[in-house]
Amino acid sequence: MRFPHVRPRRLRAGKVIRDAVAETWIDARDFIYPVFVKPRGGVEEISSMPGQFRWPLGRELINHLEEALSVGVDKVILFGVVPDDVKDPHGTAGYDPNGVVPQAIKLIKDAFGDKLYVFADVCLCEYTDHGHCGVVKNNRVDNDSTIKLYAKEAVTYADAGVDFVAPSGMMDGQVAEIRRALDSHGFHDVGIMAYSAKYASAFYGPFRVAASSAPKFGDRRSYQMDPRNAREAVREVMLDVEEGADIVMVKPALAYLDVVKLVKDNVPWVPLAAYNVSGEYSMVKAAAGYIDVKVVTLEILTSIKRAGADLILTYHALEAAKWLRDGLPF
Ligand SMILES: [Zn+2]
Repeated sequence: MRFPHVRPRRLRAGKVIRDAVAETWIDARDFIYPVFVKPRGGVEEISSMPGQFRWPLGRELINHLEEALSVGVDKVILFGVVPDDVKDPHGTAGYDPNGVVPQAIKLIKDAFGDKLYVFADVCLCEYTDHGHCGVVKNNRVDNDSTIKLYAKEAVTYADAGVDFVAPSGMMDGQVAEIRRALDSHGFHDVGIMAYSAKYASAFYGPFRVAASSAPKFGDRRSYQMDPRNAREAVREVMLDVEEGADIVMVKPALAYLDVVKLVKDNVPWVPLAAYNVSGEYSMVKAAAGYIDVKVVTLEILTSIKRAGADLILTYHALEAAKWLRDGLPF
């Protein structure tokens, strides 16, 4: 049967029928909200990411997370920001039990308990003086000594009460090393969300300003993935699943939606997260006046879910959750 008997427009005639046949829905529960924490000082807006802040450990952070919870955002991922004078070649501040992230985990868990789920990024670039994601030997990031430090960092976070650790350094074997370390310390229930297919992307630019984590020499192309590759992402994901990842991730999201779909199609039994990164966020903010920021944001988030992501890490989490209370604008 075909036209005039078949008329797909019947299913688009009004909001009720469109909603009834919609294939994709987004919800505040899909979001993981990235939060930058710092040891002290005042709340600072991040110049490269309008509407995002570095939060000192204290009341303002708790109030902000209370607001997040009130609109249904119940998952955060923490990134530590520390002053330059505590950075060193081995990123020691990253696995200091009194470091900013363990303290933030304790503060948040004391305030919210199980109501707010806490992920913590595991990497060293925020804590090394050279800005690379691991230990540098002969001008190269050394894989096997770096993953031992990631494991130490993960155990430190688990000790503080984190729900999930999220290794983002793209070192080989990092998930297995972390899983072994967590289990040997009795943290069998702490999960791992692996940044499995993390690309060497210029879309991270605004984040590096936010976390002051830009590498001081070279780039990250010897460990993060080549933007030209998609099939390789499936391999990275499968390795992480074998190593014990509970959730896998593709990062960035928007320029890599084909990768999100490819991973979902090939490894459908593992929850998949996609990171709607800082550059994607800031581009939308910078285009205010040229585009309808609200509708564009919700369209982007919907596209990430439609491509196959189960979870979306996004700086838009709070505003999107508020907008979604009025329903989708489609
Ligand atoms: Zn890193």
